Amino acid sequence: MEGDNAADCGAGNACADNPPGYDEMRTLSELVDAQRRRIAELEKIEKKNAREVLRLHRAIEHERTVGIAKTNREAAKSLAQRERERYMRLVLENSSDIILLLDKNFRFVYCTKVFLGKIGNPDPKYLAGRTFQEVFGRFAEAEITDVLFDLMRGAVSAHSPAEQTAEIGGATERHKYTVVFTPMSGESGANEGVMVHLHDVTVIEKAREMAERASTAKSDFLSNMSHEIRTPLNAIIGMTSIAKSSPSAERKEYCLDRIEDASRHLLGIINDILDMSKIEANKFVLSTVDFNVENMLRKVTDVVNFKVAEKQQNLFVNIDRNIPRVLRGDDQRLAQVITNLLSNAVKFTPESGSIRVDAVPEQDEDARCALLVRVTDTGIGISEEQQARIFSSFEQAESGTSRKFGGTGLGLAISKRIVEMMDGRIWVESEAGKGSTFAFTVRLEKGTGEQRALLEGVGWDTVRVLAVDDDPEILLYFARLAEQLGFACDTAPGGAEALRMIERNGPYDLNFVDWKMPGMDGMELSRKIKEYGADKSVVIMISAAEWSLIEEEAKQAGVGKFLSKPLFPSDLADCIGSCLGKGSLKEERVETEADCFRGLRILLAEDVDINREIVLSLLEPTGLDIDCAENGTQAVAMYAAAPERYAMIFMDVQMPEMDGFEATRRIRALQHPSAAQVPIAAMTANVFKEDIERCLQAGMNDHVGKPIDLDEVLRILRRYLPGAAAPRSPL
Ligand code: ADP
Repeated sequence: MEGDNAADCGAGNACADNPPGYDEMRTLSELVDAQRRRIAELEKIEKKNAREVLRLHRAIEHERTVGIAKTNREAAKSLAQRERERYMRLVLENSSDIILLLDKNFRFVYCTKVFLGKIGNPDPKYLAGRTFQEVFGRFAEAEITDVLFDLMRGAVSAHSPAEQTAEIGGATERHKYTVVFTPMSGESGANEGVMVHLHDVTVIEKAREMAERASTAKSDFLSNMSHEIRTPLNAIIGMTSIAKSSPSAERKEYCLDRIEDASRHLLGIINDILDMSKIEANKFVLSTVDFNVENMLRKVTDVVNFKVAEKQQNLFVNIDRNIPRVLRGDDQRLAQVITNLLSNAVKFTPESGSIRVDAVPEQDEDARCALLVRVTDTGIGISEEQQARIFSSFEQAESGTSRKFGGTGLGLAISKRIVEMMDGRIWVESEAGKGSTFAFTVRLEKGTGEQRALLEGVGWDTVRVLAVDDDPEILLYFARLAEQLGFACDTAPGGAEALRMIERNGPYDLNFVDWKMPGMDGMELSRKIKEYGADKSVVIMISAAEWSLIEEEAKQAGVGKFLSKPLFPSDLADCIGSCLGKGSLKEERVETEADCFRGLRILLAEDVDINREIVLSLLEPTGLDIDCAENGTQAVAMYAAAPERYAMIFMDVQMPEMDGFEATRRIRALQHPSAAQVPIAAMTANVFKEDIERCLQAGMNDHVGKPIDLDEVLRILRRYLPGAAAPRSPL
């Protein structure tokens, strides 16, 4: 075998019995084997190396990745830091607070922009290294700077923040700051300086003070209100029991008068409170009607006249002739403002003081007129500080005012709102102890009604008038009216002068004589005028007094007519006209003559017995027959059963079972022809504009507010009942 042979011969040894070349072959094969082994070894090494290379490569790669991440992290870290720092800077630069950073020697390192502004915007470099006192002294007074500096030093040595409030700034613009000193320490705990933080609390303080004031005013208001409501209630309850226990009819009558006064006063207070709550809820709305300015003012003065007479004050009303006679707007609200100003003037003016109302056109455009109304008194006046407050709700000039004079402190706030809604403004000029002028403007449309002139057609140029009054305003008033109407008018400040004029000029056609004058009074002068024998000479007495009180004596003295003060142009013109036999300018008065509706029947739907009783009694003199329903369901049934029976329906709104709105809708929906026509008027305590609108929407024709005013009910009856007098014109 070849193998055996090969085994026998050593490598490289030639065996003699082997064929030639055998040994070389064998050596060669051995070499190849060796070579192969070597290659295998080398391959092993290579693989190992490759693995190592791979490992190293991976390691390097790993290292590289880790390195990059680290670099990235570090880069990101410094970026975030830079961003943080940028924001810190922004915070400081944009802070509306003053922030100062001082080093441990209290020298400036940094301050916010606001502070730079406060010290006159110096170059920021100016601050570096300067002392607190040096720089802060440019902002605050030296005294305050010293106090704050001491506080700051204390805070630093105690290692604890300190706080203080300080008022800083000029006399006109003082600001209140809270100042906080925060000592700053480094990581080692060593003192690094102090941060001073000033926060402006002026606005917050003012708001807080205002809130406190408002809250005090509201609680004062509640106690005033309680007092205000209890006072008339006390009168009502007290007078009722006196009347019940008194056998005297006269005394009962007296008590009833007082009860009426107190009830009306109470109603006024309740109306004020309701108005104010409407204003606060933004639900206060105005209506628009044509109205006569003079009539409106006359009604206003009627309200205060008895009080004026009681306090023996002089009330004078001047209506500029250039005011359009008919304006368009909410006359009730306008009257409310003037009544409030006038009642205040009467209330805050002592006995025998003077009050005047002036109404003048401020601006006259084609379709609109700006009206300026001034109410001037010679009363107690109002200090400047009080003037700033009195137009706010619940505010009175002095806290004792309500105890002394009564009142709620709401009237002027309501007036202000009304005037502003009429495109105007209200203000006061006053001096404590001397008197006040409250004035307001409103812009109103001119009315479409007839702008009649005063008594056209009277032959004024033939009339000679003498006016005698110790009040120069009244004489001026006559002189102006004479000029306006074109009659001749002489004026005299007293009886003696008047008589001299009559002697000199002969008797006058009309003699307007004031009742109360110093020296010769109006009665005596009237007698003397009549003694001059002029039969055709008429004496007209002018006075604020109740005519019935002086009527008898005046008639005996020869007085032919009476005119009440304050004088109104149309009253005067009417009086002159009637003396000369001309017609009247004044509106027809609603009369309450008995039996004017006899034979007619109405239906009253009202759930409260006492209210039914009041209506039945009030309307008794009219002769009306009245059927009553106690709720809406009954009212519909009664009407449906006999539609022709009823000439009119008065309908309460809030009733059990069926309310007045639903009852009206059902009546209107009935098939009978009268159902659509029968006049229905709401008679309700819901008196706001939207309440009235709801009534009309439900199909009612009109509205009477509760508490019931007889005149108003009569006006409505006249308006709707066939055969009744024509409705009263607003003009
Ligand atoms: P009220 O009269 O119900 O108190 P107002 O709002 O009408 O409320 O008036 C507010 C305050 O203004 C009054 O309490 C009073 O102090 C002061 N005031 C108003 N009018 C006058 C006036 N003519 N003279 C003096 N003070 C007045």
